[in-house]
Amino acid sequence: MIKRGSKIYSIIHLKCPRCHEGDLFTVKNAYRLKHVDKMPDYCPKCGEDFQREVGFYYGAMMISHASTTVIAVINHIIVFSIYGWELAPNLISLVVVIVGLFPLVFRSSRAIWINMFSKFDPLALQNKIERQKI
Ligand SMILES: [Zn+2]
Repeated sequence: MIKRGSKIYSIIHLKCPRCHEGDLFTVKNAYRLKHVDKMPDYCPKCGEDFQREVGFYYGAMMISHASTTVIAVINHIIVFSIYGWELAPNLISLVVVIVGLFPLVFRSSRAIWINMFSKFDPLALQNKIERQKI
């Protein structure tokens, strides 16, 4: 099992990259599409800044693009082994898989992106960053 403290844990469980306790997204269910992109501004447990700057998550689109490409290739290999080069099964399965996995790819891409700029701090909960409301 993947233990708390690794980036993989934070990405799979969509947890704060600093404390691995706070949730990255306000609603846990990724398929509640109205809330798929809703993130708190700061980690509710340790105070880590989730909205570092305007447009911070644009970089996550590159990760999303790469993930979607890998998923499409895997989908094609599976469908090709069954149907060959027939166009309809390839296109239909591609659309169903890409659209169906979109919320998971979207959220995991953001988790990967923020984990690239933050590292685990085992004392994060004791050293909570206090935020003042302005
Ligand atoms: Zn945190």
